[in-house]
Amino acid sequence: MIEQIQRLLRYPELIHGISTRQGGVSVPPHATLNLGFSRPDDPAAVLANRRRFADRVGFRLDDAILAGQVHGTTVAVVGELQRGRGAIERETTLPPADGLVTNQPGLVLWANFADCTPLLFFDPVAQAVGVAHAGWQGTVNNIAQVMITTMQAQFGSQPANILAAIGPAIGPCCYEVDQPVIGAVEQAFAEHSAQMLLRQLGKPRPHFDLWAANAHWLLQAGIQPANLIRMNMCTACHHDRFFSHRHERGATGRFAAVIGLREVHHAV
Ligand SMILES: [Zn+2]
Repeated sequence: MIEQIQRLLRYPELIHGISTRQGGVSVPPHATLNLGFSRPDDPAAVLANRRRFADRVGFRLDDAILAGQVHGTTVAVVGELQRGRGAIERETTLPPADGLVTNQPGLVLWANFADCTPLLFFDPVAQAVGVAHAGWQGTVNNIAQVMITTMQAQFGSQPANILAAIGPAIGPCCYEVDQPVIGAVEQAFAEHSAQMLLRQLGKPRPHFDLWAANAHWLLQAGIQPANLIRMNMCTACHHDRFFSHRHERGATGRFAAVIGLREVHHAV
C-alpha cells in the first residue's frame, strides 16, 4: 500500500509516504486505492481509501492538507489555519497550488498523481517540508525552483541542506510527447539539455524525461547531488502498482505523496 524513501526514514521527526494502487476498496477503473476525489469514483470509497493510507503511514487524515492541482507553479505556505482542508471532502480543498510547504509540525502535506512527477522536500536544519506536483507544464515552468525559493524566503532554508526526492512518474521509456511539449521543452532548457531530455530512443517521436528535467532544475537551484533522491520508477511500466493516466488512457485513479513533520509530545 505504501512506498517509502529509505533516506527519509532516517529522520524520526519526518512522516512521509507514497501510496501504491493496492489495498483499497475502489472498483475498476479506480481499483483499488484511488485517493482522488476528482475522479468519477464513489466519494465514500475514496474517503475509506484515504483513511487506510493515512493509518498505514501513521497520521490522522484530519491533519492532511490538499490544494487544487492545475499544472501551475503556485506554491502555498500552509499552517494551522489550513489543517484538514481538502482531506475529508473535496469542497474544502485549498485554492489551486501545485506546491505546498510548511514548517509547522503535526500537519501533513498531500498531493495526488497519475504519471506527473511527485517532488518531496525536507530541510532537516530549518525543519521544513514540501510537496509538489510537476507534470510537463510544472516541469518546464520549474516549480522545483519555486519550491526552493519559497522555502528559503519563508523558513530560511539553505538549498545545500535540503533533501529533494523525485517520486514515481511516467519515465522516458513511456512518455512519448508531441509538438506543444517538444516546443516548451526546447524553450525552457538550453539546447544541450533539451536534446538530453527529449530522448529519441529509436522511435518516431521523442520521449520527455521528466525525472532528469526535474533533477536538472533541482541541482541548478543548489540541491547537492548527494541530497537528490531519484526513485527512477515508471508509473506506466508499473501500472499494476501505480495509477498511470497514459497507460490507462485517462480512466484511472490517483495515488498520493505525503510529507509532514511529526508533532513532538514532551513528557511531563
Ligand atoms: Zn515506462
